[in-house]
Amino acid sequence: MRIGMHVKIGQGLPEAVKSAVSYGCNTFQMFSRSPRGGKARPFTEEELNEFHRLVTENKIFPVIVHMPYILNLANPDEEMHKYAVRLILEDLERADQLQAQYLVLHVGSHRGTGEEIGLRQMVNGLAEIINNYAGQVTILLENTAGAGHELGYRFEHLAWIMERLKTDKVAVCFDTCHAFGAGYNLVTEEAVQKTLQDFDSVIGLHLLKVIHANDSAYPLGSKKDRHAHIGKGLIGPEGFRTLLHDQRLHEVPFILETPVDKEGDWVSNLKTLRSLAE
Ligand SMILES: [Zn+2]
Ligand SMILES: [Zn+2]
Repeated sequence: MRIGMHVKIGQGLPEAVKSAVSYGCNTFQMFSRSPRGGKARPFTEEELNEFHRLVTENKIFPVIVHMPYILNLANPDEEMHKYAVRLILEDLERADQLQAQYLVLHVGSHRGTGEEIGLRQMVNGLAEIINNYAGQVTILLENTAGAGHELGYRFEHLAWIMERLKTDKVAVCFDTCHAFGAGYNLVTEEAVQKTLQDFDSVIGLHLLKVIHANDSAYPLGSKKDRHAHIGKGLIGPEGFRTLLHDQRLHEVPFILETPVDKEGDWVSNLKTLRSLAE
């Protein structure tokens, strides 16, 4: 079983690995730059070497990089759209330097232009990115809760984008809190099976590469994205137990993005997830 968490890189790359290892993780997710965007500091060869050494030594797999949240590839504004394309290409290069397997990207917001225009903008942007990228990293589109003008809250949105791209460089990251907010029930074993069935028939479970394991502070279909501690939110333990025991998801890493309200929250959420996996 691959279980990990989102780690901070403020103390440097080697410290990020050490932090994941200290929590007993065999996979982790990180930003490659400040999550608020801005210019990224180039990695030094020394820190990259140490990072790779620690990743190999501790058998970490996969390494997942997350794009800053502020980025909007579906933006109808051409300048902002171009900026997003440029930043994603830059982060793909950085993810390659880190020898990461995946770069997670939220499907953007159409900002009132309508869903189809927004989705087309996503396809155009991703096509340009793929045409200008020769590295090893796979882009994972993350489902959203569907707040405001957010796209990607329906599995059909993700499928629509991927069908038009016809590439193996794009797959999916499934966030449980976002799915629940978008109306995909995950509370009972039966509900999880139904949601996975939906995912499989619309997208295909072979394209599910990472799970963001987060409980939800808001109810089913609320369109709200507020993460809660595993088993303590409105999804509850049964849904996570079912996901963790599904044979089809056995190779899929589960990454926690749960809130840190007090010291020890990472430990307790990891403990809960591991005990539900038993
Ligand atoms: Zn997420
Ligand atoms: Zn979220």
